[in-house]
Amino acid sequence: MRRKLSDNLKRVRDRIASACVKSNRNPNDVTLVAVTKTVEVDVVRSALELGITEFGESRVQELTKRASMIEEFRSRRRLVAGPADVPPSPNWHMIGYLQRNKVKQVLPWARVIHSVDSLRLAEDISTHSAKMERTTDAFVQVNVSEEKSKHGVVVGATAYLIEQILPMPNIRIIGLMTMAPFEENPELARPHFARLRELFEDIRAERIVGPAFAHLSMGMSNDFEVAVEEGATVVRIGTALFEGVTAAVS
Ligand SMILES: *Cc1c(COP(=O)(O)O)cnc(C)c1O
Repeated sequence: MRRKLSDNLKRVRDRIASACVKSNRNPNDVTLVAVTKTVEVDVVRSALELGITEFGESRVQELTKRASMIEEFRSRRRLVAGPADVPPSPNWHMIGYLQRNKVKQVLPWARVIHSVDSLRLAEDISTHSAKMERTTDAFVQVNVSEEKSKHGVVVGATAYLIEQILPMPNIRIIGLMTMAPFEENPELARPHFARLRELFEDIRAERIVGPAFAHLSMGMSNDFEVAVEEGATVVRIGTALFEGVTAAVS
């Protein structure tokens, strides 16, 4: 299982690196978020041991469950093997639709929220973060393709939403996120990524945001190379990392 996972990881990193070469970018500027929604916690543990530090989940319940199991594993390991043998604490990313009534539940475990698409959701994140005496990093999710089935704010309303969120003390908008429509041919996703990049550059040029607004979360298993070529700084990858990887029977 571990061998397969390590091969997949190497292949994904190589593909990111080639896309960077093609677009004259530094691979260190692209963060891989491993999306674990289909895998067992043993596989997550192996991924952590292979050096992955960023993990993504699209459902609150799954995120809190996996994140707490990983913390338990780290505590146990600390007791049994000593602190030197404990893998670093991972960062969990909430990448799916977030209901306002789940904010309180997810925040203790999620370091980054990729799916802010309303003022009220942002307010709740800021309020609950204040109670925890921290600031939470978040992306505004943009529905670039304007598919009815997708969440996110429309392109034309994005800058205004960000302007309204900026004064909130305990949420920090670090960039934009989008999901391209699923296409067999990843080239068909390119215009959506290019559009998000353009919107991102426009918002930066208007100087309504500070230097923290520096990221584009875009690209999944079937289109991440195109996303990297179009400027993604965060790619969210599940299938390409975990396909064929199953937990060992122990
Ligand atoms: C599932 C999911 C991904 C990863 O998808 P794969 O195609 O398995 O790489 C990325 N982003 C979001 C929002 C998802 O829900």
